[in-house]
Amino acid sequence: VSTERPAMSELATRILSADRRALARAITLVESTRADHRVQATALLEELAGHGRQALRIGLSGTPGVGKSTFIESFGTLLVEQGLKVAVLAVDPSSARTGGSILGDKTRMERLSRLPGAFIRPSPSQTHLGGVARRTREAVALCEAAGFDVVLIETVGVGQSETVVAELSDVFVLLLAPAGGDELQGVKRGIMEAADMIVVNKADGDLKAAAQRTRADYAGALHLLRPRPQDAPGFPKAMTASALEERGLDAVWAEITALSGWRKAQGHWDRRRAEQARHWFTEEVRQALLSQLQTPAARARMADFAAAVARGETAAGAAARAMVSSLTKCGESLDEG
Ligand code: GDP
Repeated sequence: VSTERPAMSELATRILSADRRALARAITLVESTRADHRVQATALLEELAGHGRQALRIGLSGTPGVGKSTFIESFGTLLVEQGLKVAVLAVDPSSARTGGSILGDKTRMERLSRLPGAFIRPSPSQTHLGGVARRTREAVALCEAAGFDVVLIETVGVGQSETVVAELSDVFVLLLAPAGGDELQGVKRGIMEAADMIVVNKADGDLKAAAQRTRADYAGALHLLRPRPQDAPGFPKAMTASALEERGLDAVWAEITALSGWRKAQGHWDRRRAEQARHWFTEEVRQALLSQLQTPAARARMADFAAAVARGETAAGAAARAMVSSLTKCGESLDEG
């Protein structure tokens, strides 16, 4: 690790001075699964630890087609026009499989991507959720170090990616499209429970009335959820907006800042960040242990134990304990793996 220090220290300095190319390079580094890149990324994040800058991390989830990229384009532009620096990241474990649109794609956010105050990073084509979670968390940390005021983290409302985003964000917004009838059932309870705000998009033209009905339905549904300590009075909240016509976005921003201000004043902000840090630490330990199981030495030993268990020579429990206690002796330290 020591040989990585000078280079990473220089990269860290450039990131802290808001150098975009350094930031992009660093994100490429944290996205890499190569062992030597992992070592560098770890050294870099160590260099950057404790810089004390915090962005407002806004998680944004919604199924394909609800208007996420249109919303981010309009909303991001609004924030940049207010003088804020906005980074857009994406958590997209499904894109490779579904062949859907790439989240955070600059061509889908053309206007925003041209603004000097904005930084957009498309999701890498990586399907392993654990890897995506770590990469995104580290990319968020890098954007904070680079002095962004707001980090928008976009995800599709499928699978577990929204849980990852909820664990990464200070405020979690669920974007929905207007629809009639039994739409409520389409949203998983877990996502509803994680949401601080529901924004019914496309509240314009022929869809306006339906959007208002949908908003009212969800306001009622949110009301029935068990209150959480981190809920400011009136939250979680349901609103309408039109990303296309750029309506209601300033109200969404006002609510987000009101909520985060309240949370800061009440101590919930720091508490949530501390809880998240603890959660990610535990995740890292889990991942590190799992990766120790993947080394050739560990696999071979695992196969031997499994064979012994299959032959009835050893009980499964005893073999498992012996396997686990042998892991540290398998010769692969964290830095190497
Ligand atoms: P994403 O897949 O969630 O990123 O959705 P997109 O932003 O790509 O939008 C999907 C479609 O909905 C596009 O045709 C958009 O033009 C349209 N759309 C997005 N926002 C609005 C809106 O506020 N009003 C209306 N009427 N259409 C919208």
